[in-house]
Amino acid sequence: MKIICVGRNYLAHVKELDNDLPSEPMFFMKPETALLPEGKPFLYPDFSKEIHYETELVLRICKTGKNIAENDAPYYYNAITVGIDFTARDLQSQCKAKGHPWEVAKAFDGSAPVGKFQEISKLKNPGDITFGMKRNGEWAQQGCSRDMIFSFDKIIAHVSRFVTLQDGDLIFTGTPQGVGEVCVGDVLELFLEGKMVFSVVVK
Ligand code: MG
Repeated sequence: MKIICVGRNYLAHVKELDNDLPSEPMFFMKPETALLPEGKPFLYPDFSKEIHYETELVLRICKTGKNIAENDAPYYYNAITVGIDFTARDLQSQCKAKGHPWEVAKAFDGSAPVGKFQEISKLKNPGDITFGMKRNGEWAQQGCSRDMIFSFDKIIAHVSRFVTLQDGDLIFTGTPQGVGEVCVGDVLELFLEGKMVFSVVVK
């Protein structure tokens, strides 16, 4: 399986990092080894001094597809949760400045904790999904799917032009505003529609 991550998908977050507004979804990938099993701590890596959390809705692909039309996209995902796109912001800034790829800043081991999946059809209002993350008991980020620049369906149509999507692949759909640094000792709790779906300790 693979993990596809969309960047710059919420206006307020694009502005907080002083990035340009994308005209189409931009994406990068993380490997399967970026997943963090429930109960395992996130180990603060020794190659960065500035690890940021980015709290994101995560879709799970349920059917293999290529060149998927936007109208057909809902047939290709059936489950959703919340995850963290951990980012070594210091390394990412260096990559951006040099025009280098982002993998060292984004794809490292444990950089993709993902919560327990829920069936999308069982959500109250699939067009209006609320999510968030508490850091040490206080809200650090809160978002809603209605604020995305590119919808789930647009993302799937775009990504599948380039990359075949397969059953079990995950798509991180971008972070709302409020990204920030984590510290050793932090406890991060992820919420989907008010229900906790994952918690992780930074060690
Ligand atoms: Mg992200």
